[in-house]
Amino acid sequence: LSEGLQSAFKSLSGKGKLSEGNMRDGLEIVKTSMLEADVSYSVVQDFMDHVTEKALGKRVLLSLRPHEELVRIVHDELISILGPVDSSLHLKQEGPTIIMLCGLQGSGKTTTCGKLSQLLKEENVKPMLVAADLQRPAAIEQLHVIGRQLDVPVYSEADNKNPVKVCQNGIAKAKAEGARVVILDTAGRLAIDEELMGELQRIDKKVAPDQVYLVVDGMTGQDAVNSAGAFNDALELNGVIMTKLDGDARGGALLSVKHVTGVPVKFIGTGEHFDALEPFRPEGMASRILQMGDIVAAAREAHRIVDEKEREELEAKMASGDFTLDDFKGMMEKVAKPGLMGKMMGLMPGMGQFKDMMESDEAAGGIRQTIGAINSMTMAERRNPKVIDVHRRTRIAKGAGVQASTISQLVKQFEQMKPIMQSMMGTGVGDRMKMMRQ
Ligand code: GDP
Ligand code: MG
Repeated sequence: LSEGLQSAFKSLSGKGKLSEGNMRDGLEIVKTSMLEADVSYSVVQDFMDHVTEKALGKRVLLSLRPHEELVRIVHDELISILGPVDSSLHLKQEGPTIIMLCGLQGSGKTTTCGKLSQLLKEENVKPMLVAADLQRPAAIEQLHVIGRQLDVPVYSEADNKNPVKVCQNGIAKAKAEGARVVILDTAGRLAIDEELMGELQRIDKKVAPDQVYLVVDGMTGQDAVNSAGAFNDALELNGVIMTKLDGDARGGALLSVKHVTGVPVKFIGTGEHFDALEPFRPEGMASRILQMGDIVAAAREAHRIVDEKEREELEAKMASGDFTLDDFKGMMEKVAKPGLMGKMMGLMPGMGQFKDMMESDEAAGGIRQTIGAINSMTMAERRNPKVIDVHRRTRIAKGAGVQASTISQLVKQFEQMKPIMQSMMGTGVGDRMKMMRQ
């Protein structure tokens, strides 16, 4: 693949921005890679549209080729789509937390019951398992074997054919015995059918579990969208657990399932043993699905070096007392992340007034407006805002589409900020800023 990449992108070097033209081949290769990872076709299609829109017009670092920049963006998008990270079982303070596992037959529900029990025991939380798979006689015994291995109580009823009742009785028992977590091991079928869904819905409704997790076989292919869709329609899912990711499977089904359900991926199963359960990490999964780790790493490094250089330049300027509106703008662009600006301001002596300004509802819009206003200034104005008189102010305001008073305010704020920024290097706050950027 990487040889194909090289040749496909040879013609694209040295372009300044990502465009439909210079992204086309790259997108095609990303698409192929995702299909090879078993991401469902429709999901790949949506993802490609989304990523194209995201990437269009993005600056390509001089040291990078467009495809490297594109792959980096794709990788970051994958991470963000696969997130958020939430491996908490959201245990309740009072009474037992009820966790229901559902999924197709053979997806790994019963094994995962054991894995979760092991995890809870390690945290000194007492679990109880309920054998609610009444479809196969062997299923109850399988859960008992696991219970004996882990020394975890298992509730089952030999003659009861009603899984709702079994769950209710199991929960009553768990309460009586002081178990903190009850895990319901429900039945699965080889393919989605209405009877199974009806059964699960009845349990969901009557028993009202606190957490409902869909267990999905990581080796599932194109079908993942359909089966996950059926469970998602029938039940109020709280999370997904994907099993069998210890093999060669690239796990593209996870992206499909995530796309359909939108709920957090809690854990991944990486083996048959009870300790083979890992909290889900989007980064690792994104790399596994995309399998372009080298390119991503190279592109990341290039960006890191550039960021580092810009930061050093900014600090050198501040140290030399030469802090201009351009630097201010650069800073705004860098830290226009929610909350970060406010945090920084809060750390600087005398900046409390700006903290409120930066954390206000209009902060994001305000930052954009500020950047726009500075963009409308000449270089001389940015270096020395004192030259901005009434005429210049009107011109700048017109260019930026804001009121003239906004420009006066901006200049006033900048003048107030300048000495503080310039003295920052001497006070150690610069070091704290450095820390926050990492
Ligand atoms: P259920 O029908 O959903 O209850 O599935 P089971 O828990 O009985 O698991 C079906 C098969 O998958 C068993 O042979 C398990 O050992 C195996 N299995 C479950 N999870 C994993 C996993 O994470 N990795 C591997 N390699 N096998 C697993
Ligand atoms: Mg089972």
